[in-house]
Amino acid sequence: MLMETTDPFLKTRLFCPGPTPVPAEAKQVAAEANIYHRTEQFYREFQRCRELLGKLIGAKRRPCILTCSGTGAMEAAVTNLTSAGDTVLTINAGKFGERWAKMTNAYGCDVRTLALPWGEPCSPEQVSEALRRERPKALFFQANETSTGTYFPVKEICKKIRSEFDGLIIVDAISSLCAHPMDMDAWGIDAVVAGSQKGFGIPPGLAFIALSERAWGRITSRPRFYFDLPREEKNQTEGQTAWTPASSLVQALKVNLEYMDQIGFDNIIAHHANCAAAVRSAAEALDLKLLSPKSPSQAVTALLVPQAVDGKKLTKILASKYKTVFAGGQDALAGKIIRFSHLGFVDRFDVLTGIAALEFALADLGYKSRLGEGVKAALKKMS
Ligand SMILES: *Cc1c(COP(=O)(O)O)cnc(C)c1O
Repeated sequence: MLMETTDPFLKTRLFCPGPTPVPAEAKQVAAEANIYHRTEQFYREFQRCRELLGKLIGAKRRPCILTCSGTGAMEAAVTNLTSAGDTVLTINAGKFGERWAKMTNAYGCDVRTLALPWGEPCSPEQVSEALRRERPKALFFQANETSTGTYFPVKEICKKIRSEFDGLIIVDAISSLCAHPMDMDAWGIDAVVAGSQKGFGIPPGLAFIALSERAWGRITSRPRFYFDLPREEKNQTEGQTAWTPASSLVQALKVNLEYMDQIGFDNIIAHHANCAAAVRSAAEALDLKLLSPKSPSQAVTALLVPQAVDGKKLTKILASKYKTVFAGGQDALAGKIIRFSHLGFVDRFDVLTGIAALEFALADLGYKSRLGEGVKAALKKMS
């Protein structure tokens, strides 16, 4: 079977949950890369980013911008907010939940895990019960488990546990920010981490971390250097970063954040909800099941690959023949799911294109469905 494209006009399109498409204006400022970071101009741009990030996250105290991928901000949370020997609770319902456990374990924490089948959301009651059982100093979980396309009900979880749990609540919102609401202070969250190449539509290289007043009051005395948040915050507030920041990305971030602020963060979230709903309609029309039907993510939809179709070939053919880059599953889900991201600067017509490509690729692999049924269902949902 023909796996390579014969169409010289095809553009490469990203449907993977990070990196997400970068809008033209942001690309341009990043490409110019003509700013020195120890200047008043950069300081103003940097503070504007911090201000808008705080607004988006619902954090009164401005988040720190770090030069690293999202995992770096996760690590900053662990090294600044835990000590070796601390009991911590992680929720493992996918690849990224597993990462919190591995990371806190690497830093000598006594790690307890609330394990759930991959694709299941966790309920506030389950979290509350686990906290009562394990009595940890900190709880680590994902707002959106990207590996399974599952959204955890963050607001409901926090509402249930905040009054009964005095420890720190640390949320990896790397793939949920911009696609799902976040109101950190109001919900009683102590740390939120995020990354640039997900909802923010800029290339990888920046990560964000916001801490509550309570978390700032509980910074531990572990040895650390690059990710020393008290030093970083002091520097960032006084107009410098501790180290050379990825300044071109900061400039691109400012462009996108200001655009998003103009649209309104609530409207951005509603847009993601609409795109996700359109993809789910298409899936239903094509008889493709969701991995996580109970609490599907608005950032990325995980679809079960039909029995008769080779899932690894599916992502391969989508990329090589249609130049549409989707992510498959990881570990036990390898070859079993395909992940359709609608996170970041993805518009309605991008979504339709993704569905069309998926229909073509499924047909190439012998899947019986009438071509256009998915696109038609999505179009109807959008109108
Ligand atoms: C992408 C992602 C990460 C990892 O971020 P990197 O930028 O790859 O380090 C962590 N958690 C979640 C939920 C993610 O989606």
